[in-house]
Parts: sequence; structure tokens; C-alpha cells
Amino acid sequence: MSSSMPFRIIIVGGGIAGISAAIALRGPNREITILEQSRLNSEIGATISLQPNATRILQESWKLENVREKARGMVDSAFRVYNTEGILVNEIPLLTDKYGADRIMWHRQDLHQYLKQAATSSERPGLPAVVRTSSRVIHCDCDAGTVTLESGEVLHGDIIVGADGIHSKIRTFVLGREVQAHPTGISAYRLMIPSAKLEEKSPGFFAKINPRHACTSMVAAHECRLIMGPARNGDIYSIVGLVPDEQMNEDPNGASSWVTKGDLNKMLKTFEEFPEWARSTFQHSDSIGLWQLRDIDPLDTWTRGRVILIGDAAHAMLPTQGQGASQAVEDAEALGAFFNEINDRPSIEQVSSLLQTVFACRYERASLIQGFSRQAAKPATDEGSKEIKMRPDEFMNYNCMYRGAKEWQRQLEIVV
Ligand SMILES: Cc1cc2nc3c(=O)[nH]c(=O)nc-3n(C[C@H](O)[C@H](O)[C@H](O)COP(=O)(O)OP(=O)(O)OC[C@H]3O[C@@H](n4cnc5c(N)ncnc54)[C@H](O)[C@@H]3O)c2cc1C
Repeated sequence: MSSSMPFRIIIVGGGIAGISAAIALRGPNREITILEQSRLNSEIGATISLQPNATRILQESWKLENVREKARGMVDSAFRVYNTEGILVNEIPLLTDKYGADRIMWHRQDLHQYLKQAATSSERPGLPAVVRTSSRVIHCDCDAGTVTLESGEVLHGDIIVGADGIHSKIRTFVLGREVQAHPTGISAYRLMIPSAKLEEKSPGFFAKINPRHACTSMVAAHECRLIMGPARNGDIYSIVGLVPDEQMNEDPNGASSWVTKGDLNKMLKTFEEFPEWARSTFQHSDSIGLWQLRDIDPLDTWTRGRVILIGDAAHAMLPTQGQGASQAVEDAEALGAFFNEINDRPSIEQVSSLLQTVFACRYERASLIQGFSRQAAKPATDEGSKEIKMRPDEFMNYNCMYRGAKEWQRQLEIVV
């Protein structure tokens, strides 16, 4: 086929999954359009850590060598676990050559902005992706390769990547039925505090934890836990409080939205058995977000015709291992790897065969990690005990040793 027929790629959703897919799929004669429903296409005000399995892809496979510095990320040096008496009971060193890359903590907006720049910059190889905001997709024809926007406009793609998040619309068209994300019974408080404020106003906390030090700290009770760490070169400190819905002293059905405002006093009550140095920080966050955490069971398939689901649309999971976005990056890498040779408009047979290969490559691993994330949410101690039984590194080797889609294929060929 002649190179006058560009390979048209439509990506629905401009979150980390969609933007990563655009980076991975960039190439000569490829027209990439990202359709994003929001007006601004920016991430929320919270932190995120990508695990070595994903940072290796960013830095090595996609040659984004300066992503840590430019997006003000911090290489996590250790995972420290405290019990509710405030005693450090476990420290897992994270600076290791074992995984070939680091776990890096970012402010979500910094990482997203950096990745978007990489997807749309004219300085990288391949045609820059185009982001169209205020473009909500309401319909998708998987075999014809079309999406319809709310405005009525119809766009054609040789492939369509459904990266539209946990409440994915595209998922319904791929599966032919609606799959709702279901409540996991766990909610998450999210707080962000300037480190300078903690240093000044929470001396008890500062005596225990330096908020500018690149280290993740967890305080765990039987069911509730606080997971804390810095971002933006240490200028901000993030606290995530996981709590079972029935213990959170807030009404889980109080808001129609799944993200709502948390209440300081209720949060303090929920974490009343936690050390004072940890609780003393809550009041210094300008706002408290409360998220009802949802996930999905592994789907029957992620692909149909010209369409594939990636990211949370395909495998939304609990955040207990910080693998949700990291798995989205792996999905994107697999798309890039298997479509590497295609620069002219591919046939439908070529497209569906390659999308099936991407699915085969990604499904078992992403589904396992969904399951691990549920297991990692189980109580950290026996009932009534302060002894912490959970091991945050239980699944780390499996999660972090991943070497990409082509290596998966190579291993498969060895076995066959
Ligand atoms: C408390 C918490 C902490 C977490 N911490 C981590 C962590 O440390 N590390 C990690 O790897 N993961 C973490 N995760 C998970 C991670 O946030 C998600 O897995 C990841 O952001 C999913 O990215 P996505 O692009 O698939 O989906 P999203 O970020 O949801 O993006 C989907 C995009 O699609 C757009 N969209 C939706 N519908 C349409 C439509 N019809 N038309 C057009 N656009 C549409 C949306 O506006 C959105 O921009 C955490 C999650 C939570 C809740």
C-alpha cells in the first residue's frame, strides 16, 4: 500500500494510558488523534509512583531519559512500615539493580504534562499526536473503525485505542455488554501538604519522617493504613489513607459522585488508633479528597475488530501496589512493539491479528496483578494484634521484572 495512505490511530482518553499509547505508537506516516472529553486534559492534584517495570519502558524503550528530572520526580529509596505504636517494623530498600530501573514518585500533573509533551512534540521521531479536548466519544463501531463524538462528528481509525478509564464507554462496544466497575469496600482519603508546612507545623511528624526525603512510609493497623511520600523534588508531601467503607465514619453513598470531599474530624476519628505524629499532619492539607475505590474483574477480551482497550478501561485495579498506571504503560509499550513494522494503512485482518497478539501478551499478566492488588488490600495484621503480617514486597519480583512485549514473545517461542 502506498505511503500516501497514512495509518490512522484514534485514542479515546488522554489519561496516562492514552498519552502513553500515543508515545509508543508514534511513527512516520501515522496520524494519531487523542480524543479527550475534558476541556483541559490535565491530571488531578495527587501523587503517583511508577514502578521499575514502567519507568524502564519510559527511560529505555521510549528514550525519555530526562523524565525524572524534567517532571520533578524522585527515586524512591525505601518502603518503611510502621505499626500503630509508631515503631518502624520493616524497611524494604528500593535502590537496587535487580529491576533495571527505579521506582519513581511524581506529582501526577507533572508526569502527565511531560508525557503529553512527548506525545505531541515535533522534536521526537514520527508525526506528533494531536490532542482534541472537549471531545467526548459516545459511540464506537468496532468493525468499521469509527467513533462518534457527542457533537455528531464521526471519525475513522485503522485502530481505535479505548483508553477511557475505569468507567469506559468503549468497553461496552468491545464486549457487547456493559461492565460496571464495582465497589471494593475500600475508600481512600487523599491529602497533599507542602513539605515546608509540615516542617513548621508538625514537629512530631518531622522528628520521625523527613518529608523531603525520597522514601515511602506506611503506617498500618488491622484494616486502615496510611501511605505517605514526597514528590516535586520534595516540595510536596502526599498522604493516602485507605479505610474500609464501613469504618470510615462517612456515608459511602453520601455523594452521587465516586470522588467527594472528606471531613477532617471524621478522618481523625477513623485513624484514632494511629500515632499522633501521623494524625497531626491531616489538618495541614488544604483539602481532603475521598475516593471510593472500584475495580473490575478480568474481562473476557480487550479487543474486537479494530478496537483494543488499555489501562483502567481494560484492567482497573486497586492502588495497593501502585501498578494501575504502570500496567497502562506496559499496554502502550506492547502496542508500540507489535505495530512497529506497520507504517502504511493496515488491512483489517492485519489489525485484528496484531491486536489479538497485544491482548495475548498483556492479559495474563495484567489480570494476575489485578488479583495481587486485591490480595495486598487484605488486613495487615491479625484482628486485635499490632503485629504487621503483610509484606509490601510480596509480589514485587513478579511485578517489576517485566522486560517488555518482545521479550514475552521471545520466551513464548522458546517454550513452543
Ligand atoms: C488512590 C489512588 C492511588 C493510585 N496510585 C497509583 C500509583 O501510585 N501508581 C500507579 O501506577 N497507579 C496508581 N493508581 C492507579 C492509576 O491512577 C490509574 O490506573 C491510571 O491513572 C489509569 O489511567 P488511564 O489513562 O487508564 O485512565 P484515566 O486516568 O481515568 O484516564 C481516562 C481518560 O479518558 C477520558 N475519557 C473518559 N471517557 C471518555 C469519553 N467517552 N470520551 C473521551 N474521553 C473520555 C477521561 O476524561 C480521562 O482523561 C492509583 C489510583 C488511585 C485511585
